[in-house]
Amino acid sequence: MIRADKLLLFDIDGTLVDTEGAGLVALEAGFFNAFPFCREKAFPSLDLGGATDSSVVAFLFDHFAIENHGGHRDLFFDEYLLALDCCMREFRDRGKGRVLSGVPELLGRLEKCEDYLLGILTGNVEAGARLKLKHFDIDHYFGFGAFGTDHETRNGLGPIAIERAEVAVGKGFDPSKTIIIGDTLKDIACARAFDARVIAVATGGASEEMLESGSPDILLPNFADTAATIEAIDSLFTSD
Ligand SMILES: [Mg+2]
Repeated sequence: MIRADKLLLFDIDGTLVDTEGAGLVALEAGFFNAFPFCREKAFPSLDLGGATDSSVVAFLFDHFAIENHGGHRDLFFDEYLLALDCCMREFRDRGKGRVLSGVPELLGRLEKCEDYLLGILTGNVEAGARLKLKHFDIDHYFGFGAFGTDHETRNGLGPIAIERAEVAVGKGFDPSKTIIIGDTLKDIACARAFDARVIAVATGGASEEMLESGSPDILLPNFADTAATIEAIDSLFTSD
């Protein structure tokens, strides 16, 4: 049995990595490859920050009047994942896309902390999440997660992540000893929805002022200072 009794659940986009738009390009390309007859209509603008892939697909199907059933969703996600892999390779060749400052150092340090178990809580579909993490060579830090097709709304993902952690390591975790780490107000709301703690980081689309309005337990400008970030994480438990 592992010693860790505290769970750190990381968002991906804007928190660990910046794909610099590859996700959005892949959504549009994947969608039109799956449903070419929709090309006559313009692709709508999407607010992806903190959204789940399930909710994005539901919105697109509604916009293009496509019936939302398993066959259509599978068709879309197959094409999206092919497009995502392709876009991320293309972006890399053009020098676009990056793991965010301090992230590899932070994950490396946290992995060695016996008190913490690292997991993912993201709006990405699982295969898309794994593709992004692998692309930036940080996939090996995460053995489990809750993903964007596990629940349509992000607020439903916290309890699922806790269940997955238990399955992964054979030990239960308490929401009060769980920290959500993310870059949007939706990450903060997701933590509050299951009484977890939350650290907001202003490396995604939301400014520090905007994140402050959601009253996170801690707000960081970025993860560039590894020691300060670990101190912030530790402080959420030493203040009990
Ligand atoms: Mg994010």
